[in-house]
Parts: sequence; C-alpha cells; structure tokens
Amino acid sequence: MRTSNVQRFLSPQNCRVLGVKNNLTKQDIERFFSKVKIVANGCWEWSGGRDKDGYGKMRIGKRMFLSHRLSYKFHFGEVPEGKEIMHRCDNPPCCNPSHLCAGSHKENCQDRTAKGRDLLFSGSKNGKSKLTASQVLRIRELPFSPEVIAKMFSISVTQVKRLRNFQQWRHLGMQQGLFAENRAA
Ligand SMILES: [Zn+2]
Repeated sequence: MRTSNVQRFLSPQNCRVLGVKNNLTKQDIERFFSKVKIVANGCWEWSGGRDKDGYGKMRIGKRMFLSHRLSYKFHFGEVPEGKEIMHRCDNPPCCNPSHLCAGSHKENCQDRTAKGRDLLFSGSKNGKSKLTASQVLRIRELPFSPEVIAKMFSISVTQVKRLRNFQQWRHLGMQQGLFAENRAA
C-alpha cells in the first residue's frame, strides 16, 4: 500500500527511526490503533500483548516494538538521543501521545508534556472536547478509516465524516495543512 498520504504521515525520519521503511504499511498503522482502547482518564490502553513490565508490544515485520515508543515516534518523530519515553500518567500500557514525553527525569517529563500537550491530540477526558484547527486538518489528512480517526481524537465516527465532507469547519482549507511544507517539496 503506497499512497501519498501514507508517505506524508510516515516521514523519512520516522521510517528511519522505525527501521521498517519498506515494511510499514497503512495496515500496520491501522492495526496499531485497533489495539488502542481509550479509557475514562484519557489513557490509550494497549489491548494487545504486553511485556513483563506491562508495556504494550507490537510486531511489525520481524521486529517487536514497544507500543508507547511507536506511538511517540508516530506523533513526534525520533526519540531524542539519550532520552527515554516516559509516562506522565504512570500507566505503562498507555500509548496516548499527550501522556508521553522524552526525558531523563520525571520533572523534565512533566514540564515538557505540559507544553506539548495540545500539539496534535487533545487529552480529552469526556470525548466532548473542542477540536483545534490543526486537529481538524490532521483528521482530514490522516489516511485512516473514520473509525480509527474517531478513536484517535475521541470524537464520533459521524463527526469525522462531517469534518471530512466539509460539513463542519468549512472555512478551513487543505492548503493550510500541517504537511503543506512536505507537499511543496
Ligand atoms: Zn495515559
């Protein structure tokens, strides 16, 4: 499966970090999100296999990845050198990117996460949070089914379809997309 959307989402940097440039497919990403279960406190709990410490595991090709590290890479890019991916929520199976941070100290982690919390996804607690413009653009651009998108952003499948059909946020044009710089390249 090769589409321009998938290539945009999987930046060269992300692919290199994942080490799966030729194997990571749209189906892999959809499979990742199919194993994410959003619970009441906003955590994205991994419903697939876990390691002895409780971290989620996912096999891609012949390699096994920790699901929270995959989630961080999907959303933020490469893990900074010398840093670990930690959970602000202290919930090892959680993959919510807004609950993750790269750091070497707990204090670092909490500080960085507070700043980056609304970067791409809201940490929605009740599923009724208002979307931001950047989230709407992301919803339109990400190459995933409405069901997966609904889960990622804690909104209804119906709302995903309305956003994609421009029945909501009509004024927001695609040319303002987060990936505009990639398209221009
Ligand atoms: Zn969490």
